[in-house]
Amino acid sequence: MDLGLADRTIVVTGGSSGVGLATVRALLDEGARVATCGRDAGRLARAADWTGAGHDRLLTGVCDVRDAASVSRFVRRTAEEFGGVDGLVNNAGQSRMKGLDDSTADDWRDELELKFAGVLNPLHAARPYLAASGAASVVNINAVLAKQPETRLITTSAARAGILNLSKSLSAELAGDGIRVNSVCLGLIDTGQWTRRHAAAGSGTAYEDWQAELAADRGVALGRLGRADEVAYAVVALLSPRASYITGTSIDVCGGIGRSIL
Ligand code: NDP
Repeated sequence: MDLGLADRTIVVTGGSSGVGLATVRALLDEGARVATCGRDAGRLARAADWTGAGHDRLLTGVCDVRDAASVSRFVRRTAEEFGGVDGLVNNAGQSRMKGLDDSTADDWRDELELKFAGVLNPLHAARPYLAASGAASVVNINAVLAKQPETRLITTSAARAGILNLSKSLSAELAGDGIRVNSVCLGLIDTGQWTRRHAAAGSGTAYEDWQAELAADRGVALGRLGRADEVAYAVVALLSPRASYITGTSIDVCGGIGRSIL
């Protein structure tokens, strides 16, 4: 099926690694032009090399999604070089492994700032271009934590729930501009986040065994962590103009984690 993404321009935040990079790659495979950002110039350059895409298809920019001015410059440059913006994937970020008793006031403030600025800054910057697109789609990368909070990730769970709520409001607010807004809620996806945690745990257990134990501990029905390309598939589907009647909803990509049917 032709997803109708050829020559459309999609901004993906945090595309130098993991889910963001897999999404960049999948969009390039569909013939889209992609712009992506991250804080580390070296990682961005290595990621761009890995895709094999030329400057006419892939634009990179160093910026922190918490910094509205630099996000705005990055999105404006994208629109100028590629002739507009048709889609936005708010992906950049990470989770915070903290419970109630070890979460400081700074943890709460930083977590809420990252999660909300990570959606609102790129959206404000891209909105005029998205409104002019005629087939605009925003995908917010979220977590099943938004619906099934974990006490060991208390700040992230609360922030994620807020972002899911915000996404619903945005879908209603932006429908008049022809902009669809949806969420993709992740379970445990095998990316840099988990390799870093495995290294930090220093348990001596091989990574594959550690992953299998993790999946069992968290009740993942499929018994394994997901792959970033398995998330990218859902993101690309929501970005496609063929998903023109899908807005204000969320898709879980989580291997059947948990017992909730909501
Ligand atoms: P990775 O750590 O592999 O990639 C994160 C990407 O975001 C990198 O490109 C990183 O680049 C960039 N990034 C991080 N912080 C910022 C920032 N402030 N400004 C700009 N770019 C930033 O993570 P994942 O692929 O695993 O995660 C992607 C998203 O999915 C995140 O929002 C994460 O919280 C969410 N998620 C992931 C889950 C998982 O199991 N992997 C589960 C649930 C949600 P750089 O560091 O150079 O800035």
